[in-house]
Amino acid sequence: MSSKALESFLTENLAELKDKGMYNVIDPLESPNGPIITIGGKEYINLSSNNYLGLATDERLKEAATKAIKTYGVGAGAVRTINGTLDVHVKLEEAIAAFKHTEAAVAYQSGFNCNMAAISAIMDKNDAILSDELNHASIIDGCRLSRAKIIVYKHSDMEDLRQKAKEATQGQYGKVMVITDGVFSMDGDIAKLPEIVEIAEEFDLITYVDDAHGSGVLGKGAGTVKHFGLSDKIDFQIGTLSKAIGVVGGYVAGKQNLIDWLKVRSRPFLFSTSLTPADVAACIESLSIITESTELHDRLWENGRYLKQGLKKLGFNIGNSETPITPCIIGDEVLTQQFSKRLNEEGVYAKAIVFPTVAKGMGRVRNMPTAAHTKEMLDEAIRIYEKVGKEMDII
Ligand code: PMP
Repeated sequence: MSSKALESFLTENLAELKDKGMYNVIDPLESPNGPIITIGGKEYINLSSNNYLGLATDERLKEAATKAIKTYGVGAGAVRTINGTLDVHVKLEEAIAAFKHTEAAVAYQSGFNCNMAAISAIMDKNDAILSDELNHASIIDGCRLSRAKIIVYKHSDMEDLRQKAKEATQGQYGKVMVITDGVFSMDGDIAKLPEIVEIAEEFDLITYVDDAHGSGVLGKGAGTVKHFGLSDKIDFQIGTLSKAIGVVGGYVAGKQNLIDWLKVRSRPFLFSTSLTPADVAACIESLSIITESTELHDRLWENGRYLKQGLKKLGFNIGNSETPITPCIIGDEVLTQQFSKRLNEEGVYAKAIVFPTVAKGMGRVRNMPTAAHTKEMLDEAIRIYEKVGKEMDII
């Protein structure tokens, strides 16, 4: 039986979230999270997944995972440092290091927990972190966990970063880190890594890039850091194995001594059971596919360009995305929610993203085309956008 205080806290706050339209309604999928999904018996064109290359449902990954289950079972059995490191974990880390062009890598159970792990293993209360204002929640939480002073700079504003880096390096802090997403997932814009590296060199900052949305997408698949040719300039290249890679997990790639340190100091590595054999084997297969051919990468970009052109031609505001991520900016929060709902009724599954995830008045329906979409699917989605856009006087 819960306490009265808990009871009233939950009742009041849940009611408030529902009133404000901020309560997440979850629609369970009855199908794989591919280009077409089934929810409540109805099929939708799926423009909401991060399964950029379509690998989450790829037969080769399924086969690798099945084989690993037959060989190792379903669980790793322990945390990495006790005896939960299987030979496949080591192989995966070697594959990640090769993929990211670094000396070494360490894998975690998710991208979220990787940020919690890595930032707090290096930074402490005597340090400072310069963080882009649009950084992902897991970066924000990882920074908080470290207890370092968090100094937020305006989104991709290099003048602001330079000024704040200058102020933070006057001697009042120990280590100073600059931390950024590689690709910002709400707008699809790319971090200005060459300028960030220049500022980092000027002020001797530690550099940390979370490339969750750039890996598999930019740099012919190798990610944002490779895209800019900066592989030897970024201390922490972190990422997720759950988006383009198609499975689950996270990683840090960097110098051998950084990885050695994370393996003795980062808490999820020490205290949380390692990735399952099936996940690991599927990730290895996925990385091998991504590094051997750019076919899926090329298709993703082609589909991204196709959807963007189609929506733009209709008169939608698709923002300034530099990647296949295609926001359709509606503005008003309520109108954005209604627009997404109408698209949904017509057969397009594309989620509304509104304040506080994005700035007030910048509500958008975010579209995530993937390599697995066909032109016919995208044409149908564009047709539905046109129908609903005209009906609601948006275009
Ligand atoms: N970092 C960024 C930038 C992300 O977008 C996400 C995914 N939402 C994560 C980390 C978390 O990754 P995961 O889903 O693997 O926990």
